[in-house]
Amino acid sequence: VNVFYQPLEKIAAVVETYPKGIAGFKNYQALLATEPDIVDRDGARDIENLSGNVAFDQVGFGYSPERTVLNDINLSIKAGETVAFVGPSGAGKTTLCSLVPRFYDVTAGRITIDGIDIRDIKMKSLRRQIGIVQQDVFLFAGTLRDNIAYGRLDATEDEIIDAAHRARLRELIADMPDGLDTVIGERGVKLSGGQKQRVAIARIFLKNPPILILDEATSALDTETERAIQQSLDELAEGRTTLVIAHRLATIRNADRIVVITQDGIAEEGTHDALIAAGGTYRRLHEAQSLGIRTDNKSDCA
Ligand code: ATP
Repeated sequence: VNVFYQPLEKIAAVVETYPKGIAGFKNYQALLATEPDIVDRDGARDIENLSGNVAFDQVGFGYSPERTVLNDINLSIKAGETVAFVGPSGAGKTTLCSLVPRFYDVTAGRITIDGIDIRDIKMKSLRRQIGIVQQDVFLFAGTLRDNIAYGRLDATEDEIIDAAHRARLRELIADMPDGLDTVIGERGVKLSGGQKQRVAIARIFLKNPPILILDEATSALDTETERAIQQSLDELAEGRTTLVIAHRLATIRNADRIVVITQDGIAEEGTHDALIAAGGTYRRLHEAQSLGIRTDNKSDCA
């Protein structure tokens, strides 16, 4: 179960508002208007310009009271640091990351950003400062420009173009019949998986949040595309606190820190080299993947 793939809640969650005038959005409006589970606390404040020091302080969480998924998680991530979470399927990597934008609230302990309990920050303000890249990119029927601007609706034309270029969409735009005005989506030009990823990356360059969550693709793209996308993701992560939900160990070698999560919590943490040398869980996962044995038995290969 992947919480990031749960439909509209996520759209509402990541983008604070939605483009009312854009065709194709009518249906979503009604859904987005439904009451969210998590609301602002009394006294929650608008806090902008967070640096992005993220700390988990004795965090516990369960989707239901009968079963806890996370127990007493303690982890302190410095602003700008890239931390990759690895571990067996179901250990709680995705869940842990989903607590940061408050898709769910902790049931014990607290999560702070720059020392402030995230429940004391207004949800809009919190989510403005978090960008999420996931495997399934949400595109709506509209122009390429509108789809990029979805990252920040008040962006200027220059900002949109700059974000598109940073996401390496320059060539695609040049090849499109109407450039940025080209209609994409179901009845327009269809984009490839890699191109969709680039639109998602452009959105985040535009939004420019201090915190980034990368829910890594499990498969889908061919190796060359994957490498190119990975390069763009590395650029996107530059200067941001980045939490990577890693499914393939190869892409996280360069993370500042790797955190191994098992059913029992955080089993180990360190750099790739340190964890290989330690000869623990990470090393075993690494050896298994090198042999082509999948360790995260995702549903797509179960
Ligand atoms: P994977 O590598 O497969 O993505 P993961 O380490 O990210 O796994 P999670 O997806 O966080 O693990 O799942 C942790 C546990 O919580 C699992 O037992 C899972 O079944 C359960 N779970 C995840 N999402 C939900 C949900 N929305 N409702 C109920 N249980 C859930």
